Amino acid sequence: MTVSALPEAIDLSHHLSSLARHRFPSPLKDIFKQMQREGIISMAGGLPHPSLFPFVDASVSVYPPSADLSGPTPSAADRMSLNFQKYPSDKGAIDLSTILQYGQCEGLLPLRKWLHKFTLDVYEPGYSNFEILLHEGNTSGWTKVVRLLAEPNDFILCEEFTFPSAMAVWVPMGCKAVPIKLDGQGMRADHLEEVLANWETTHPGMKRPHIMYIVPVGSNPTGSTMQAERRKEIYEICARYDIIIAEDDPYTALQYPEFDVSAPSAEVVHQSGEEFAKSLVPSFLRYDRDGRVIRLESFSKVISPGARLGYFVCNPVFAERLLRATEVESQTPSGWSQGIILSLLETWGQSGYLTWLSRLRDTYQTRRDGLCAAIASSFTALPARDYAAGVPGAEGIALYHKGTDPASIKPDQRPIATFVPPTGGMFLWISFSLSLAPRFRQLVAEGAQDPEKTFMDEFWEALAENLVLLTPGSYYLPWEGVDKLTTSARGAPSGIGYLRFAFSYEEPAVMAEGIKRFQQVVSKMFDA
Ligand code: PMP
Ligand code: PLP
Repeated sequence: MTVSALPEAIDLSHHLSSLARHRFPSPLKDIFKQMQREGIISMAGGLPHPSLFPFVDASVSVYPPSADLSGPTPSAADRMSLNFQKYPSDKGAIDLSTILQYGQCEGLLPLRKWLHKFTLDVYEPGYSNFEILLHEGNTSGWTKVVRLLAEPNDFILCEEFTFPSAMAVWVPMGCKAVPIKLDGQGMRADHLEEVLANWETTHPGMKRPHIMYIVPVGSNPTGSTMQAERRKEIYEICARYDIIIAEDDPYTALQYPEFDVSAPSAEVVHQSGEEFAKSLVPSFLRYDRDGRVIRLESFSKVISPGARLGYFVCNPVFAERLLRATEVESQTPSGWSQGIILSLLETWGQSGYLTWLSRLRDTYQTRRDGLCAAIASSFTALPARDYAAGVPGAEGIALYHKGTDPASIKPDQRPIATFVPPTGGMFLWISFSLSLAPRFRQLVAEGAQDPEKTFMDEFWEALAENLVLLTPGSYYLPWEGVDKLTTSARGAPSGIGYLRFAFSYEEPAVMAEGIKRFQQVVSKMFDA
């Protein structure tokens, strides 16, 4: 389908916050426009003259897109070079006098054009007039979205376990989470429908939520990935209840097939960049006929977090208001970052970038497989259903102490822990049956106020003492209001505790050693 055959975004300006509505263009904008006139002598803007920048030229060596990321770094002969010069004489060099100067707040035009084509080809948005605006990574991008849409005390729809930095933006505004239950694919459409259909009864006199925050690929923390059918269902519910979907998707390239416990070290077969692009689950943009999706994409996880670069894909009204905010909040992402990433993408080309993403995905899949296999082999691991990682309906792996004879396990015997092997991203989420821990039972018997939190804090400390560091699960419980301070009051089932493993950083062999240490602590703290 050609872009022009698609509808334009509908008017969604009623979602704008009072702050966003009242923003006005930077007065400097008119000056910048006039400066483009041929022959103009500008004594208007406070631009430093580029001759006074201390930089003369720069060269950045990069891997080729098809670099084998599982082996040693590619040899110098295989590297590609990105060149930067002040007033370039070499063809293809990026002009430092432009990228290091004050620039367009939307971001460098050639970079936005590159990303527009990429978005069109790979994500195929369902409406025609979407726009691209650069931001400084999804952390900052999401903060801008909250200020674009949310009023103090609004309710924000999110997953039952959600990214704490995202919540930390809305909590000080008095906004409260509306956690939607999860299954193996992430947010459940039936529970979303139920919450919205019953809103007037459950929240009499309170404004209905109009913003959804969702991490649909490699959910942080659960590692789940939402498939196409579920996305369609969720989009239709959001269209019916007039909800804006903020799709925080830094892990979009990191999608994995299900982990095969019977072949844990199966060789990953490389795909071409084009095959890889076709294999991705569609973004919410694909179903977005209205322009109600704000897609937040980041280079952090696929190039480097220190680049502090990402981009919004959204409707023109939201893009214009986000631009007004950007003019006075950050102006633009760093010129170095924009210049280096533009040059990298132009040098690799779209097909090369897709090949890079595909190889990166393969490397993370190997790490995912390594972590799952290390956990499974350190315990007696059996298929788990219905309660895997506390996620009803998810198929996963149940862990019993190492050496337990599977034949001796009774059908209703609780495992120590369960997890669902991640299908995306960088995280593995594991749940523990705390009733199997003597110390937890003692806390309950003593009438401790929040036995889950107290036990999990002690467990986490014991792991750190044994030199293995994980993230406490309590970080990810959505904040629903000041009156809900205990773990169970914040929506977690009682008697269950969670931890999050990241498989992004340590080598598989090091992770295996970490799992050995983890298993030692578990064997001490849970009943034999
Ligand atoms: N504050 C003042 C007083 C300025 O004159 C300027 C630059 N014109 C700025 C802030 C903007 O600074 P920056 O480029 O660091 O955002
Ligand atoms: N959103 C989610 C869901 C994340 O997991 C992370 C990183 O951990 C971020 C955003 C931060 O992204 P960025 O580096 O683009 O700000």
